[in-house]
Amino acid sequence: MGDYLATGMVFNVQKYSIHDGPGIRTTIFFKGCPLACWWCHNPESLAAKQEIVYWQDKCIGCGDCVKSCPHAAIAFSGHGLTRNPEKCTLCESCVDACPTGAMERVGQIRTADDVMQEIEKDSIFYEESGGGVTFSGGEALRQIEFLEALLVACKARRIHTALDTSGYASWDSLARIAGNVDLFLYDIKLMDEVKHRKYTGVSNQLILENLKKLAATQSNIWIRVPVIPGINDDEDNLKSMGELLTSLNLRDVYLLPYHNIAMGKYDRLGKPYPLADLPSLADQQMDAVTQILKAFGLHINIGG
Ligand code: SF4
Ligand code: SF4
Repeated sequence: MGDYLATGMVFNVQKYSIHDGPGIRTTIFFKGCPLACWWCHNPESLAAKQEIVYWQDKCIGCGDCVKSCPHAAIAFSGHGLTRNPEKCTLCESCVDACPTGAMERVGQIRTADDVMQEIEKDSIFYEESGGGVTFSGGEALRQIEFLEALLVACKARRIHTALDTSGYASWDSLARIAGNVDLFLYDIKLMDEVKHRKYTGVSNQLILENLKKLAATQSNIWIRVPVIPGINDDEDNLKSMGELLTSLNLRDVYLLPYHNIAMGKYDRLGKPYPLADLPSLADQQMDAVTQILKAFGLHINIGG
């Protein structure tokens, strides 16, 4: 049996998702990630601790948050409010004081039992659509006890499970949960180690080694590739990826086209967006990427 008292930091539970595996799914987003990809569209997932988000469109300018802050960390500026991260201690007084929800906490400690109750509410949709639950992030493997408790509980209830992972974790962690994961959504970004370090903050060696070991376990694996123009859509990278995947007999590839709609999220968190000037991926660019990978006999899907 799973440890229903295990706790973890979650920043979102998305219901009726159709992009994180087969059928209709509930996606649980774990907070905290060892990578910091320049194109990350969930910047609120990166830090393992709680954060404060400011929604300018909900702000009525009452100033209650400014008055409530014990550290004078908030001030009015020409564009609403700014929060000084060096002064802010994340005490959340401003969140409690705000009458409109414009100041919001992101990240909550939850028990496995509590999350399972939420998951089970939609069992009927999973059964009818061939769906289930996807554990995403952030990197769920960073909270291995919590993840394992949820996977074991889902297995006991015959709920299909998918794990969306960067693969950047110890092999011990992956091996520990592999038997309870019905489908891995395994992200591959860049084959060149130097570029991988530059654009994600970490080496790709562990990720590729883990992928080879995982493929040898006969686990069900879909490869996911975020396609970022000018960063990983070049022929060298794609061919190298194609060679690796065919050598491991991994055929199912999901390409996730880059879009720049996450920019607003960075503003709300008070963080700079590394790709502020990069336009979304054009259809023609995506076609070219698809053709290169298809030549390796891979089954290419767009999105998902
Ligand atoms: S979380 Fe606390 S310290 Fe930070 S801005 Fe809000 S009230 Fe001030
Ligand atoms: S308390 Fe809320 S609504 Fe009032 S100024 Fe602060 S963020 Fe805006």
